[in-house]
Amino acid sequence: MEIEVVELEPTALKTPPPADFGFGNKFSNRMFSQKYSPEQGWHDAKIGPYEDFSLPPSTAVFHYAQEIFEGTKAYRRADGNINLFRPWENMKRFNNSARRMSMAVVDEEEHLNAIIKLIELDHDWVPDAAGASLYIRPTMIATDAALGVHASSSYLHFVIVGPVGAYFKGGFNPVPVYISDTYRRAVRGGVGDAKTGGNYAASLYVGEQAKQKGYSQVLWLDAIEGRYVEEVGAMNICFVYEGRKIVTPPLTGSILPGITRKSVIELGRDLGYEVCEEPVDVQQMLADVQSGQITVVFGCGTAAVIAPVGQFGFKDEAYVINDNQPGPVSKHLYDELTGIQYGRLPDRFNWTHTIHVN
Ligand SMILES: *Cc1c(COP(=O)(O)O)cnc(C)c1O
Repeated sequence: MEIEVVELEPTALKTPPPADFGFGNKFSNRMFSQKYSPEQGWHDAKIGPYEDFSLPPSTAVFHYAQEIFEGTKAYRRADGNINLFRPWENMKRFNNSARRMSMAVVDEEEHLNAIIKLIELDHDWVPDAAGASLYIRPTMIATDAALGVHASSSYLHFVIVGPVGAYFKGGFNPVPVYISDTYRRAVRGGVGDAKTGGNYAASLYVGEQAKQKGYSQVLWLDAIEGRYVEEVGAMNICFVYEGRKIVTPPLTGSILPGITRKSVIELGRDLGYEVCEEPVDVQQMLADVQSGQITVVFGCGTAAVIAPVGQFGFKDEAYVINDNQPGPVSKHLYDELTGIQYGRLPDRFNWTHTIHVN
């Protein structure tokens, strides 16, 4: 793949904001894009200005949600260079999502090279503030201009990047999580294990209800029995028993296979924890929280890395975990993972790819 790099007028270049990035509302000067058609395959690969698309109102993605995305980050190292964290996993998952949504797959190596090239060009957008990073959002949408219900034949693949601030502004504070008794996110055999926008659209209503009750995230149960814990909005979930055994639900097809989850399993074992992928019955889990056998609960995902859970709400009852304190296991894993990501600790698993910019 030949990537055309469009020269930008120096006067058109914005400078990165100094701080207070928020999440996902500021973007760098450039973006990567390429198009797919059955005749040409992937073509028109370019890195050009971050700019609007012009698409007919009949474009397939607007009607039937044939769309996938990824989320990963670039981290500023103390030596000024930039780390990507297990980006190969994101490239693989992007194609798995594409296959499930009947979309064209992309060459994984070329996809990653395009991201690296984009970051090299916009490297000044990788912040060096503590806990900040450059969020990377690869996306693919169906672009046939027709309303027939079938897989599109043409696609647009693009990557945008933007600085994001530290997830925990007021310190490593636990979040309150609402367990949905009525609504379900995904069912085995459905698309819960694909990173596709519709999964999020379906969850927003419940998320808003949870907010009104004072909870910031929703924990989903399995859709068949409403009995087993699956995951939190954009994070997988882990339970720590007696401070040393970490349990997370197995990937049954309705759970998104998180790269942070996979890293917690591998790193946790390496650090001497017992790590199990086991079904978690919600009633048993809540009883174990109340008896104090579960000492720590945390969500794991790219955005927060590790987010301690301080309280569950289920059927109008509140279940407080570890006195609403984060607990040492969350902090331990958080420090180890972010240590590897930012290059503060040796990368003994070969998880990082360093982009040299100085
Ligand atoms: C992206 C995502 C996750 C977390 O995956 P990571 O690769 O760890 O960022 C978990 N659940 C859902 C539904 C997601 O979309």
